[in-house]
Amino acid sequence: MSQPGVPASGGAPTGLQVQNGSTSALGSLYTNGPVQNALMSSQVSVSQGYNSQLPGPYPHLIPAKSSLNPVSGQDNYGGSQTVSTLNNYQGPGQTLNRPPMASNPVIPSLHSGPVPRMSPPASQIPAAIPAATPMPSGSLLPGANLPPPLNWQYNYPSTGSQTNCLHASSQSTVSGNTNLTTNHQHVSSGDPSLQNSYLKSGGTSNTSNEPMVVHNSYDEIEGGGFLATPQLTNKNPKVGGSVGYSYPSLPPGYQNTPPPSTTGMLPSSLNYPSGPPAFTQTPLGANHLTASMHGLSLHPEGLRVINLLQERNMLPTTPLQPPVPNLHEDIQKLNCNPELFRCTLTSIPQTQALLNKAKLPLGLLLHPFKDLVQLPVVTSSTIVRCRSCRTYINPFVSFLDQRRWKCNLCYRINDVPEEFMYNPLTRVYGEPHRRPEVQNATIEFMAPSEYMLRPPQPPVYFFVFDVSHNAVETGYLNLVCQSLLDNLDLLPGNTRTKIGFVTFDSTIHFYSLQEGLSQPQMLIVSDIEDVFIPMPENLLVNLNESKELVQDLLKTLPQMFTKTLETQSALGPALQAAFKLMSPTGGRISVFQTQLPNLGVGALKPREEPNQRSSAKEIHLTPSTDFYKKLALDCSGQQVAVDLFLLSGQYSDLASLGCISRYSAGSVYYYPSYHQQHNPVQVQKLQKELHRYLTRKIGFEAVMRIRCTKGLSIHTFHGNFFVRSTDLLSLPNVNPDAGYAVQMSVEENLTDTQLVSFQSALLYTSSKGERRIRVHTLCLPVVSTLNEVFLGADVQAISGLLANMAVDRCVTASLSDARDALVNAVIDTLSAYRSLVLSNQQPGLMVPFSLRLFPLFVLALLKQKSFQTGTNARLDERIFAMCQVKNQPLVYFMLTTHPNLYRIDSLSDEGALNINDRTIPQPPILQLSVEKLSRDGAFLMDAGSVMMLWIGKNCGHNFLSHVVGVQNYASIPQTMTDLPELDTPESARTIAFISWLREQRPFFPILYIIRDESPVKANFLQNMVEDRTESALSYYEFLLHIQQQVNK
Ligand SMILES: [Zn+2]
Repeated sequence: MSQPGVPASGGAPTGLQVQNGSTSALGSLYTNGPVQNALMSSQVSVSQGYNSQLPGPYPHLIPAKSSLNPVSGQDNYGGSQTVSTLNNYQGPGQTLNRPPMASNPVIPSLHSGPVPRMSPPASQIPAAIPAATPMPSGSLLPGANLPPPLNWQYNYPSTGSQTNCLHASSQSTVSGNTNLTTNHQHVSSGDPSLQNSYLKSGGTSNTSNEPMVVHNSYDEIEGGGFLATPQLTNKNPKVGGSVGYSYPSLPPGYQNTPPPSTTGMLPSSLNYPSGPPAFTQTPLGANHLTASMHGLSLHPEGLRVINLLQERNMLPTTPLQPPVPNLHEDIQKLNCNPELFRCTLTSIPQTQALLNKAKLPLGLLLHPFKDLVQLPVVTSSTIVRCRSCRTYINPFVSFLDQRRWKCNLCYRINDVPEEFMYNPLTRVYGEPHRRPEVQNATIEFMAPSEYMLRPPQPPVYFFVFDVSHNAVETGYLNLVCQSLLDNLDLLPGNTRTKIGFVTFDSTIHFYSLQEGLSQPQMLIVSDIEDVFIPMPENLLVNLNESKELVQDLLKTLPQMFTKTLETQSALGPALQAAFKLMSPTGGRISVFQTQLPNLGVGALKPREEPNQRSSAKEIHLTPSTDFYKKLALDCSGQQVAVDLFLLSGQYSDLASLGCISRYSAGSVYYYPSYHQQHNPVQVQKLQKELHRYLTRKIGFEAVMRIRCTKGLSIHTFHGNFFVRSTDLLSLPNVNPDAGYAVQMSVEENLTDTQLVSFQSALLYTSSKGERRIRVHTLCLPVVSTLNEVFLGADVQAISGLLANMAVDRCVTASLSDARDALVNAVIDTLSAYRSLVLSNQQPGLMVPFSLRLFPLFVLALLKQKSFQTGTNARLDERIFAMCQVKNQPLVYFMLTTHPNLYRIDSLSDEGALNINDRTIPQPPILQLSVEKLSRDGAFLMDAGSVMMLWIGKNCGHNFLSHVVGVQNYASIPQTMTDLPELDTPESARTIAFISWLREQRPFFPILYIIRDESPVKANFLQNMVEDRTESALSYYEFLLHIQQQVNK
């Protein structure tokens, strides 16, 4: 507990409780809600601060004009993650950044657990935000316009004379006026750069009465949540139609204005419904709300109570499916696909008290930009959104009549715009409830110009290559350049696509690719203290116009440094240079690094001590410098994301380097011991992953906001992004392989509602230069009993969220704290179930059917690379595993944590799937235990990004010759990474099965074929979660331990 960033003073309860062994005082990983438990780490007070911002009585949520100073949003960009706190800020979960308010309305009475579990806010706050220091809450209070304290700002001026474009009056949204000029004044890093410095030239700048306010324009574009800033009342007579007010054509930032009598709204719809929302049953389409609870259709199996000590094998033989929310089928059939959006509890507890009793975390897991086969795209001048909370109209709103719909998040009654009365699908007028927006929980809108701060940026790809001796030695440059050559035409983009390259060792080398040159020109800059960019306009060039030069460069690059003796690595200065080049446009930087950077800014020192690898304490999981985070925030502000490819055999301090991607919404790839000759499997892996990386969809200058029904509150975010304002995630790039998670609490009782909804909206620029909004809406029932909460638990989502929380815990406290917290999560939950749900106390370890795999998955987490102890896992590998916890979509994360094991040496067509004339065998999934292996078989382990096929010594000749293509066991090659396609039915079946598994995911898992004596076998066995290892309990031992604690 001597980590620099974790103030030890009043914070003692946090760490100490965890180790004192008492179950009840240990705290689970989470507490839901305003009263955080001890393990919530440093975000506690921050999120409390945020929560405190949500006013209680609903009508106050819509502040009067000028009541909410938009500056707060922007200033919160710094939030708790200010420069000065960077060293100390270690909580990866980015919490909302509102300063704690003096009058904190968190109601302690909601807290059902022992009070000491609540972390004293002061102790948990990273240094720069002492909770004791009253933060100016003015920025959030009506009428206040106080600048935030300096340490709340990062890099952006809080005030300024540039009044950004969205102050413009509604007239300015006419498309002719969206001709924005860019004003990209890059100020050298460290100085305030101008965020959103795109000023409207043509727009009328009839702006606010608050000229000192710099709006967070993105916030306004996407539209705030309940705290949305009201802007000018629209009185524009030009737009709008028969409905009487011009809502649809307004820039979204203005639509929050409560429409007074100037609008044509019915008087009744001006007010919030007083009291409970009445679900008015109407004959209109999706309006089934009152019927919602009639469809209780839990499979009888789901109601079983299981004694895990008697029924140890609860693992289904087919992949575990997410639970289906207990909704009326008419609603459920419209619900969001759980692959995109799911909740840890598919039945939402009515009150925080009920949630606290369940001891389960409440949160959402999202995969918002997943590649979809079917995605309805709506092009319409009218994007219908709630005037109060900016929710997009969705299948779970109710239509009071043809002209009015009630928001399912804030219950405001909104008018149906005239345009929406026409259904483009059926070409029928007067059926707004049949519009695609109301029929699809996942939908994409083509965004009109109001959703732009500037013209959509071109796709810009910039590559930064380490060309030090070490890098050249690995040979990676050959492969990367070749892969780029192969995929150059597949890079997502259009005629505007730009590309550029930088290489570096102790100096930085730029490449002029100006059209018309006969060959690329190399420009070396040796002053890395203050990197000067020579000829910036020639370094980032139009790909189409300069394609031959680019190809030339890619062909020659690998040879250019083969003789280098330069061992130093000036990564930091190279990144700074890349950032400077990219700032005017935004885009993607791809960095390839092969060692610890040791020159210039951002130089790092080795920190790993091999003899400490196995220790659960004192390992360096936190960044050693704030350089990479600061630069990432600079990048984020300029719409630049940085993806890091680390190919290194030695310690490279991924904990520090990874920050460059994490806060800029990039991705991290890690290839330990990459070597062109010596490590062919890594070579193949890099090749496959690069192909995916280079060709997958990409969204630029994106923001994402998640809204939920009034009464629920989101308080902590997990993933790679930066929380720009209240709850707006800044995603300079978004890719289809990134997952996110959020934690929630029940702020106000949901006793008056039967359903709640969650909506994520992702606003991005496509590689074709279109502004689009992808919206997902999930609807779930509210329940009032603990048993129902348990019955609806989604054990995979819970495990995924717990893992995210545990990573934060590792960083803010220690690995052992995180491990304890994971175990306590199971103990607390099952204790609650035993004492509060089960009436007669039977012996054994009783679990609800929904949680039958909870202990197993938590044990798997404890054995996962992120959290394991007692092994010699390298520090960077552990950090990488943690990065993946944070960034992987749930389904892949679960495969990594608890792989699927199949016996495949005797595949049959029994129960096979038939897809497009292909027969795909479906062998049963086996428990992860060596008991399930036998030497005469062959077993395939599917661990997501990796597959391992272990072939037993006595495996039948039939499999060896007909599938592996060898005559005997000894002739299985030492390094074999795929099966040959042989002309035998056995081969066809095996390959069909493996291909089918691979098709389920966007990346290409490498297949390791493992002989009994192969060194990779250790990896295979390491995944045998149910078995005992030197330092970890077997599943049965773990169950006994849990039972002991539960029955205490
Ligand atoms: Zn609303």
